[in-house]
Amino acid sequence: SSDRVFNFAAGPATLPENVLLKAQSELYNWNGCGMSVMEMSHRGKEFLSIIQKAESDLRSLLNIPSNYSVLFLQGGATTQFAAIPLNLCKPDDTVDYVVTGSWGDKAFKEAAKYCNPKSIWSGKSDKYTNIPTFEALQQTPDAKYLHICANETIHGVEFKNYPDPANLLIADMSSNFCSKPVDVSKFGVIYAGAQKNVGPSGVTIVIIRSDLIGNAQPSTPVMLDYKIHADNNSLYNTPPCYGIYMCGLVFEDLIAQGGLSEVEKKNVKKAGILYDAIDGSKGFYRCPVEKSVRSMMNVPFTLTKPELEAEFVKEAAKEKMVQLKGHRSVGGMRASIYNAMPLAGVEKLVAFMKDFQARHD
Ligand code: PMP
Repeated sequence: SSDRVFNFAAGPATLPENVLLKAQSELYNWNGCGMSVMEMSHRGKEFLSIIQKAESDLRSLLNIPSNYSVLFLQGGATTQFAAIPLNLCKPDDTVDYVVTGSWGDKAFKEAAKYCNPKSIWSGKSDKYTNIPTFEALQQTPDAKYLHICANETIHGVEFKNYPDPANLLIADMSSNFCSKPVDVSKFGVIYAGAQKNVGPSGVTIVIIRSDLIGNAQPSTPVMLDYKIHADNNSLYNTPPCYGIYMCGLVFEDLIAQGGLSEVEKKNVKKAGILYDAIDGSKGFYRCPVEKSVRSMMNVPFTLTKPELEAEFVKEAAKEKMVQLKGHRSVGGMRASIYNAMPLAGVEKLVAFMKDFQARHD
């Protein structure tokens, strides 16, 4: 509606308007129970129905096989950087990391506290503008797992396919979770912070093949032990109830849109018109990322005249398009166009970019 902005933030990020309105309508008195979701016991039947529906809707969206557990946790994806090695390896086990950007690098560095990670590929010397093919990777034969960041939120590179891995494949899908269909059976673990595509911050979703659960290092804190959470259906301690409820509303919305194949079509279209505008600007705008691995979710771009960047961000904000400044580590601009960014938002941005160029070229 006219009092909302188009929010291109990388996360927390824009949420579907109908989801916000539904939450608003249920805020004061959920389903006639006389209280809000924020006030409910996490062990009461009302909240149990909410978390169970959220899980079953996510299972149907991603077609999650029955031998996988779904956990709703806290601590962000950052906490999973430690939980993954703590749960999956012993201190002297070797594991492989593909470092395609800042997030993959953070995951790699955290793992070094708990096992023996090897960076088997790094895009750092190319300023993280590329992604290797799986065939090109020199995987360590006895590595316990191979960790990738499916979509690098800051650098805007995204894996476009996930071939069958030689080792257990672990993916941080924080910034492209539920943006397209994924064959979950190829992965040992998929994890994602909710605050980009599926809800507010405070919820972290872990999808893990059940036979991998139960081998945590003895020093693992209970809050990081997948077995504790799996055995207690994510209710070992007080979960982020309201956030889980919001994720549930988003899952319902994604199902109502026709599921992830339909969602993917919309995302392909949105990203397509934005990259076309950048590539068709005769160099006025530039995206440094290798074309075949450009992210459908986070679109970084620069201006040939960097002195205009602040002006671009300022003028866009005046037209109700906000959060377009690039990450402080890379500069330039970044438009995050997650599921909930409507096509109209991207069309408005593209029209603005053309107009801005006409005035400043
Ligand atoms: N991985 C990726 C790909 C991310 O984009 C982020 C957050 N921007 C993180 C991990 C860290 O997530 P959190 O802030 O939820 O710990």
